[in-house]
Formats: sequence, C-alpha cells, structure tokens
Amino acid sequence: MKIKAGMKKKNADFNMDDEGLLKELGLDNIEVESFKELGLEEPLLKALKKQKFEKPTPIQEKAIPLALAGKDLIAGSSTGSGKTLAFGAGIIQNSVKGQGVQALILTPTRELAEQVAAHLKVFSAHKPLKITAIYGGVPINQQIVQLKDTDIVVGTPGRILDHVGRRTVKFDQVKTLVLDEADTMLDMGFIQDVEEIIGTCPADRQTLLFSATLTKAVTSLAARHTKKAVNVLTKTAVDPQKLIQTYYQVSKSMKFPLLAHLLKQEEDGLAMVFCNSRRITDLVARNVNNMGIKANAIHGGFPQKQRSDAISRFNSKKIRVLVCTDVAARGLDIAGVSHVYNYDIPADSKQYIHRVGRTARAGKEGKAISILSANDHEQFSKIIKDNSTKIARLQLPEIEGCC
Ligand code: AMP
Repeated sequence: MKIKAGMKKKNADFNMDDEGLLKELGLDNIEVESFKELGLEEPLLKALKKQKFEKPTPIQEKAIPLALAGKDLIAGSSTGSGKTLAFGAGIIQNSVKGQGVQALILTPTRELAEQVAAHLKVFSAHKPLKITAIYGGVPINQQIVQLKDTDIVVGTPGRILDHVGRRTVKFDQVKTLVLDEADTMLDMGFIQDVEEIIGTCPADRQTLLFSATLTKAVTSLAARHTKKAVNVLTKTAVDPQKLIQTYYQVSKSMKFPLLAHLLKQEEDGLAMVFCNSRRITDLVARNVNNMGIKANAIHGGFPQKQRSDAISRFNSKKIRVLVCTDVAARGLDIAGVSHVYNYDIPADSKQYIHRVGRTARAGKEGKAISILSANDHEQFSKIIKDNSTKIARLQLPEIEGCC
C-alpha cells in the first residue's frame, strides 16, 4: 500500500489542547491524510487530530490496513512504537456499542493494562464505546459491574481468568484478540492462563500478537493461535544513535554515592533507576528522597493504587526519579525519561534492552548508565557481547564527601 506522506499543515511545535487557540492560529484544519489513507474513518481521525498525531508510525502504517482487512498479525514491535493504535484502530473502528465484548487485549502487567485502556479511551473519544481495564490487586466487585456492558476488555491474564471462572465475563462475541507484549507474558509464566482464556474466544476471531522479541516460545504461541498470520516487523522505537550507553565499575559501598552523584549532576529529565529486589528498590528510593530529590518506588509489593499514583506523579513530572523493579516498569511509556540507571545489573540482554528502551524514544536523546560492583562483571560482559552498540566504561568521577 502506498502511503502519501504527511498532512497539509504541521503543528508539531504546539503542545496545546485548546481547540479555540488552534483555530485562532489557523491550525484547526489539519488533515490527518495519511491516517485516512490507511482506512481510518472520521471518529478516529478526529481523535488523532486532537492528539496532534501527524502521521502513522511505521508499525501503524503496516499493521492498520492489514488489521482492518481482518488479517492475523505477528508484530515485532515494542512499547513506544505506537503499537496501541496499531492494534487499537481496527478494534475501535469495528466495535459497536452494546454487542458484548468484541475485543480482548491481554497484557502482562496491570500498569500496561491501564495504559492501553487509557489510550484506547482517548482514541475512541468520538465513538461511544465502553473500555474496561481488568487486573488483580484491586477489588473485584466494581469490575463485575463494569463488565456488564463493556465493549472492549483490556487486562491481565490472572484476573481475567478469575472473571471467566465466575462467569462475570464472556468472550463468545470477541472479534479481535490481542496478545500484547507476548514475550513478557510468557516470561512471567502466564502461558496456561493465556491458553485457557484463548480457549473461550470464538475460533473464527482475528488474532494480533505483539512482542518486543520474537523468541521461539512466542512463535510457537503464534503458530498455535493465529491463522495465516502476516509478519510485521519494524525497527524498535529506541534510536541507537541517540542512546548513549555507559557503565561504571565500583565497590558495593560506592554504588549509592555514585548514583547520588550522577542524579545531582545530570538533572535534565526524568530518571528511572532499576533494582533487582523490592528491598533495594525501597532503600534506594528512600535514600534518593533523603538527598532532596523527589522519588517514588514501584514494585509488585505495593498495592495497585500506590503503583498507579507513583506512575502518574512521574508522568506529570511531580517526581523526578522512579525507582523500580522490572515487572512494575515493563512496557511503560513515559515521555521525557532522559536517564535509565541500572543500579543492579539486569539478568540478561533481553532484560537490559527492555530497561534501556525506556529512554531515547521518539527522536529524543537518552543515557543508559549501569553501575557494576563485585561479581557483576561476568554477567555484564555477556550483555556487552550481545549488544549491537557500544557500552563504554567510564572512569569514576570525583564524588563529594567520598574518599
Ligand atoms: P505505544 O507504543 O502505543 O505505547 O505509543 C507510544 C507513544 O507514542 C504514546 O504516547 C502514543 O500516544 C504516541 N503515538 C502513537 N502513535 C503516534 C503517532 N502516529 N504520532 C505521534 N505519537 C504517537
């Protein structure tokens, strides 16, 4: 399919929602031509125009026409690539209010379920559809009420299966099933739940599988549950040219002083600090706060509300630092993350890529800084070997108040 580039007028430098102001500036008649050419209709186009989306991302350009044509897809594409609209556009366009659950989107984490549901609500602002996020860690009763007249369900496998078991949701009207971040879903051990849920969807549905990495396990899941699927591969949203990757080698006792020093020195954006355990995550967040830098911790040990609140504070830049474990931060797309710190070294290169992919998104520059201490070297040298771009070692800076 040939896509005509761009739209008639650009307003890329404006970041305002006020339609009146847009009109005053003569920017109200932007035509999202290229989205139209993908086959999107007025309600969606109107919503995208309001979002000031100028043109489709590569994954949208490839996936939307195929999804609208009813094809099954296997898409190698991670968060930040615009995948939510890539699978969401067809779903929104094909769903009709009040005809049962017509689309089911399975995500590995609660945060991602919330994020996807929130984005779909924005994209469907001009179409009366009810979109419900379903995940554990929050009371089930309210979800049972919400599910009664919902058109689109986005959720995590465990709680969804719980609802299936209670017969508080039925998927016999599902036209489109999305497996979002399928690799993470498998890594997190959800395979049985996912299989069971898929078994309750009609066999003649459309299946769209999105995954940052296309591992053997993912392709085998796809082989079992897709029909004549089209492979859609796009480059990752992280631009390796814009991502500076470095590491320091320090003694264990110097890890926090070094992090503190770097957070003070490099304060141009938001920072995510990855730790490998809940205990260290809490400890680091507390110590960063004690330094006078606003930080929150998120990990699986916190109630959902606390996790969501921390993410929204970080999103709105009320806090500058989010200290997190991998699970809690998977798939989050937060604009303005300029630094990713590996306070603890990731288990493997896949995890490293997931972490550093939180920065250098959408054309922005980013830094990924790993802090190695004793015993980390062997594990990290594997990551260095697997990484296609250079991870440079830096000399320890002079740290105030230290030896
Ligand atoms: P996603 O990969 O779906 O999580 O999207 C990543 C970010 O890009 C989100 O903040 C979206 O709102 C934004 N986005 C998605 N599609 C476009 C587009 N075509 N133009 C500009 N921004 C987009």
